[in-house]
Amino acid sequence: MLQQTRVEAAIPYFEKFLQLFPTLRALAEAEENAVLAAWSGLGYYSRARNLHKAAKKLSVEGIPAAQDRDAFDQLRGLPGVGPYTAAAVASIALGLPHAVLDGNVMRVISRVAADPGEVSAPGTRRRFGELADQLLDRRRPGDFNQAMMELGATVCVPRSPACAECPVSRFCAGRAAGIERELPVKKRAAEVREVALELVVLQQAGEVFLVRRAETESRLAGFWELPEKRRMAGLAGAPQKSFTHQIVNDRFRVNVWHTRRRNTKTERIAEGRWVPLCALGDLPVTTITKKALQALGLDPPIPSRAVGV
Ligand code: SF4
Repeated sequence: MLQQTRVEAAIPYFEKFLQLFPTLRALAEAEENAVLAAWSGLGYYSRARNLHKAAKKLSVEGIPAAQDRDAFDQLRGLPGVGPYTAAAVASIALGLPHAVLDGNVMRVISRVAADPGEVSAPGTRRRFGELADQLLDRRRPGDFNQAMMELGATVCVPRSPACAECPVSRFCAGRAAGIERELPVKKRAAEVREVALELVVLQQAGEVFLVRRAETESRLAGFWELPEKRRMAGLAGAPQKSFTHQIVNDRFRVNVWHTRRRNTKTERIAEGRWVPLCALGDLPVTTITKKALQALGLDPPIPSRAVGV
């Protein structure tokens, strides 16, 4: 959950997720829709899909143990587990000597080594990885990795590193050369694109009309969302609410229209259906749709169903 998401934003989802799926088996046996519903609002849904697939694989093959010679490779073989996650789990949970390399550790290493390599370049990552491996305390790899991540998060911070309080300042070549604030070297971020979106909350009694995204969509396949205004006939006046929502480099400027008048053009959308408001929490609903409903005071409830528990 913490990949691409702040700790404070993830905590309520984490607690709710563990209530719904308290064991590996419960998660492995759950329907994918129930897992996506519990994740709705966090975004980056491939994380949820991969976590679910990993739980299924582990429930069949068993959890890697420290004495397995290939424990790290077993972890790397799980869906969604890259070198960083595998090294973090191997070192912290199993005590195996694998150095982690996240953004915080990369910053510390670039400064300690005064390495001007551009951080996303494969050669730079390889070099930083080798240096992190050399530095790793092989007797306490989990503690060492957490200390490196914490150093980057709290002392060797991006704009104003607290070098005077830093426990490794004696070894820091970047500080000695006075270039610590110029490191690490990063490519310029991609420009943000503005995207206008007009959404309609078509409501009757305790239901809203939602449209399901096709399974073939590259993003948010199978998720439920509000119909766009262009798919609705004769809606006049002005939107009731507006908000912005950013997904990677797209900033959506969303206008929300609210109507209780039946609309045959919209209701003919083949992949649409009326959904009771009380059932919204059990469906995978896009974050933008959740925000639009919340803006109108129609908050989707917390999922009530823990499929497979
Ligand atoms: S001395 Fe400064 S730049 Fe070097 S690791 Fe410590 S905080 Fe970072």
